[in-house]
This record gives sequence, C-alpha cells and structure tokens, in this order.
Amino acid sequence: MPPTFTFTTRAKNSLSRFSLRQEDCCLRAELASFLHMKGSIQMASGRIALTVITENPAVARRLFSLFKSLYGLNTEIFFRQKTRLKKNNVYLVQVRGEERVRYILKNLGRLDPQGHLLMGVDKKLFRRRCCKKAFLRGAFLAGGYLSDPGSTYHLELVVDYEEYARTLVKLLQDFGLKAKVHRRKKSYVAYIKGSDAIADFLQLIGAHEALLGFENTRVVKDMRNRINRLVNFETANLNKTVDAALQQLEDIKVIQATIGLERLPAGIRPLAKLRLAYPEASLKELGAMLNPPLSKSGVNHRFRKLRQIVAKLVP
Ligand SMILES: [Zn+2]
Repeated sequence: MPPTFTFTTRAKNSLSRFSLRQEDCCLRAELASFLHMKGSIQMASGRIALTVITENPAVARRLFSLFKSLYGLNTEIFFRQKTRLKKNNVYLVQVRGEERVRYILKNLGRLDPQGHLLMGVDKKLFRRRCCKKAFLRGAFLAGGYLSDPGSTYHLELVVDYEEYARTLVKLLQDFGLKAKVHRRKKSYVAYIKGSDAIADFLQLIGAHEALLGFENTRVVKDMRNRINRLVNFETANLNKTVDAALQQLEDIKVIQATIGLERLPAGIRPLAKLRLAYPEASLKELGAMLNPPLSKSGVNHRFRKLRQIVAKLVP
C-alpha cells in the first residue's frame, strides 16, 4: 500500500531549506546519497551529462544549491511535464561536459583509480557522524516517503539496489533506529515503523518543521485514542452495572414466585424491596437508603447471598 504523499511533500519542502552552511564533507554526503538514488549518466554523440531527477521543485532547487556550493557550478534545471507514460512532472538538474562530470564523480567517490564508475557506496563519505546524518537527509529528499501520521506510522526510503538499501539500514542502525529492507516490484525499500523511531529520524536529518507537524498530529491522535479508551471503559462499566441490576431484579422475582420475600433473611429482605422500588438505583444509593445505611461493598455482599439462595431454589 503506497503511503500518502501530502505529509512527505511538506516534509521535503521544509527540509530543502535546511542550511547549506555546513562543512563540505556533509554537503558531499548529501549530494552523493542523492546521486545514488536519482542520478544517471547520459552519453550521446561523445557528450556526457550527469542528470538528477526529482518531482519536487524545492528539492530541485536544493540540488542546484548543492552543486553550486560544492563545485561553484551553475547547473541547468529542466522541467518535464507529465505525459501518458510518465505519471508525474519532473525536474532534471543537469551537469554537462565530461571534465565536470568526472570531477564530481571522483569527488563523490564514484570512480575507481582507472576512472571506471563504481556502483557501491564509498564508506569514506560518512566516516563522521555529521556526514551520516547528511547522507540520510539526501536519501530522504531523493526517495523518502512518510505516511500521514493521522493514519499509520510508516517511513520509507525507496532505492533501486539492494546493497544501497542495506547501507541505509546500517546507517539507521548506527543511530539506534530499527530499520528493515523489503522488496517492492523493481525497488528495494528501507523502512522504519513506529512513531518514536520516525520522530527520531526526522530529528536526525534536521526535518524540524516536519517533526513539529508530526508531533502535533501524533498528540491529537494519542489524545483521541485515550478519550476513546476512556469512553469505552465507562460504557463497559455502565453495562456491567445495568447487567448486575437486572440479575438482582430477576433473583428477587424468583424469590417472590417461590418462597416469598418474607422468608428472606432479615438482612436481605429490605434490600430486595428497595431494589424492586428503585430498579435503576446504584448499589451506593441503595445502601444509603437502608436503615442503618450500608456501604457499597456491603450491599454487593448481600446481593451475592441472594444469588446463592436463588441458586439453591433453582438448580
Ligand atoms: Zn560531515
């Protein structure tokens, strides 16, 4: 079941404004993560281009800024409208020219010494904790989905390669977050469940606005659950009281029809008469009407005695 996108879009929009005044190591980790998830290299008639695709214009802007901050490049952004084949509008952020593309790939640890493209993730990218967070931020911006906390608590990072999904899970585990991988058609999904873990993740990647929205919804939901539980509890109690009163009335009617109320022990007789007169009174109210008054548990005890007498009469 695909999660709803509203909350995701809002989270990405605000996260796209996350400060770019970070150390280069972190900016590199974020961009590298993005390229792993949504990057591709095109070669046409000897010309090379590196393209990153996103459906979110705010995210496209952030990509532009990352290339600018790290490499002083003004990348080109293209807009491609949805067609019958492509379901969504997409933005393409593109770097052209072999020299530039090679420089960036090398800088992000994607080329081996011979200049061949590496598929795996260069672990050097996130030796530091700050970079691990940045890497996860990039992954969320590129392929993250967060379900609306009003319904369920589910966060996922969708990637094309299993190895990459495992890398993300490992990173999440480094921060004490339980994550798992499962396969969905042609993709792999690293996912987190549970509201606490998701809140921790949002905090970790710096999605503070999303976290705030998430917490608000969570509070409202929890409150609603608590009220529902309370109402159910009270209703259950009320039902129990009504059931008990009906049972008492029935017992008294059996006595009337068999031995007669006058044959009841002196302690029970007045109580039985009161119950007949006040079928809806609570045990406490009945006890208060007795002379001398009796506590709720005392009344309860006598009704239990009555129950036993009836049980002997009607086997
Ligand atoms: Zn760093």
